[in-house]
Amino acid sequence: METDDKKGHFIESIIIKDIKDNKNKGKVLTRFPPEPNGYLHIGHAKSICLNFNMANKYNGKCNLRFDDSNPAKEKQIFIDSIKSTVNWLGFEFGTPLFASDYFEKLHDFAIELIKKGKAYVCSLNADDLRKYRGTLTEPGKNSPYRKRSIEENLNLFFRMKNGEFGEGEHTLRAKIDMKSPNINLRDPIIYRVKKASHPRTHDQWCIYPMYDFTHCLSDSLEGITHSLCSLEFEDHRPLYDWTLNELETPCHPQQIEFARLNINYTVLSKRKLQRLVEENHVQGWDDPRLPTLEGLKRRGYTPESIRNFCNIIGVSKKESRIDVTLLENCLRDDLNEKAPRVMAVLRPLKVTIENYPDNKEEELLAKNHPQREDMGTRTISFSKTIYVEQDDFMEDPPKKFFRLGPGREVRLRYAYLVTCTKVIKDESGNVKELICTYDPATKGGNTPDGRKVKGTIHWVNANDCIDAKVRLYDRLFKDENPERDKQDFIENLNPDSLEEIKSSKLEKSLINAEPENAYQFERLGYFCMDSKDATKDNPVFNRAVSLRDTWAKRSKK
Ligand code: ATP
Ligand code: MG
Repeated sequence: METDDKKGHFIESIIIKDIKDNKNKGKVLTRFPPEPNGYLHIGHAKSICLNFNMANKYNGKCNLRFDDSNPAKEKQIFIDSIKSTVNWLGFEFGTPLFASDYFEKLHDFAIELIKKGKAYVCSLNADDLRKYRGTLTEPGKNSPYRKRSIEENLNLFFRMKNGEFGEGEHTLRAKIDMKSPNINLRDPIIYRVKKASHPRTHDQWCIYPMYDFTHCLSDSLEGITHSLCSLEFEDHRPLYDWTLNELETPCHPQQIEFARLNINYTVLSKRKLQRLVEENHVQGWDDPRLPTLEGLKRRGYTPESIRNFCNIIGVSKKESRIDVTLLENCLRDDLNEKAPRVMAVLRPLKVTIENYPDNKEEELLAKNHPQREDMGTRTISFSKTIYVEQDDFMEDPPKKFFRLGPGREVRLRYAYLVTCTKVIKDESGNVKELICTYDPATKGGNTPDGRKVKGTIHWVNANDCIDAKVRLYDRLFKDENPERDKQDFIENLNPDSLEEIKSSKLEKSLINAEPENAYQFERLGYFCMDSKDATKDNPVFNRAVSLRDTWAKRSKK
């Protein structure tokens, strides 16, 4: 069940108070500002939900703004993916905005700073810049170029813009305080030469504004009221405020920081995810084992389950690591309500029902959902040869095993009670087929004489089932903290995170399956068709999540 933002949090309290005080004329305008240098992950979903939910709840608007001021790493494919992912999550953003649309204005702001004597062109090389910057314990030193005249600065900046200098020869720096305990205030670079083509402005510019300069000014130009960002920007807030105070800007948004989302058994950082992809530890950015939103979508996650997860975890200033089970439970809750039930056999074992007529086939009625009448019924066919799960048979079963064994009776879901009469093995002694008898009086699984049969197992009709590949996923990392004791997270990859079963058997109705429509394979979990590798002739299904959490049990062993 969805609970879109019922719980208040500290940011919501600030917004409520601002509206009450008529700050920003009572308006709320937020933004989600991704850099288009990779794909979005579930951490971004936290920020997306927060920004859009606050805007929607308080009659405001949330902009999707691409923070695209570093052309070296940014690409159009990332822009496209981010747009469609935000839509997929269920949020409307109107026309997307781009920091690069403000390049002209940002350039004018830089000139304004120079003219005020608050910015200068520095000609230290990268090494010297670092040396002069000082450390957390030592103050920095003034650059020898700090005293350049306004005219000289304007002239050099003009020539930087005209492409007269190579990368790293000169930078434009804000003139703040080299002795500030906050390193971000030690004359930060605000513009640098970069001879790279930009995905949108192409070769129009060869100087690009730095993130800190771009971000606050873009916020202000858009009239953002609350600029919500993760905690690592707390130390940048003084620079955010300094820039807006020094310049004649339309408004001064309030930056508010919150804790990033961390989840156990995974990593949430574009840089780390990129390494997993580039070193081929996973198969692409949308690998269903990744916490990218494209990966989760392909795996079978619904937007509702992700939004609900983001609401449950809430928003605070305290860093924590959320248990991935919580995310999985959000998906279970959602799919339990809406996924149609079907039958599929992952590891098939052939069963021949010896007393069932040879050429008979009958249609049995099955419910699409045990609780939801509105989801209706379907017919499934039954014949002399069926498949059951290998795991549902034991040759020498313990007492508490209520499934099939020699001489044991079991209920076939929606069909009949059958009793195993014979076990056929191959030359190496593996069970290859079971012979059973059925009781025609038990159609639909009833026992007219009231005899007790505890076990019910799923099955498919061998005559019309579909062959499919099924992919089962496990945690991508073995350790809940993949970087424990500063380990390289690659060392902690779980070698068994993907298991592909090549010849599963699915009930016929799944011929109409579409990716993104998840099903419950009864007793096995929630599955959806793969959006990339599946074809009509060669279906591939992904397990989004099992029916219950089995990890806790396993890791105790
Ligand atoms: P990464 O560290 O994964 O590369 P990022 O912060 O560099 O992420 P951006 O594209 O700059 O990625 O992020 C856009 C917005 O999403 C930012 O406001 C950022 O604070 C937020 N964000 C990114 N990761 C998380 C996270 N794990 N939890 C919450 N918010 C996040
Ligand atoms: Mg970032």
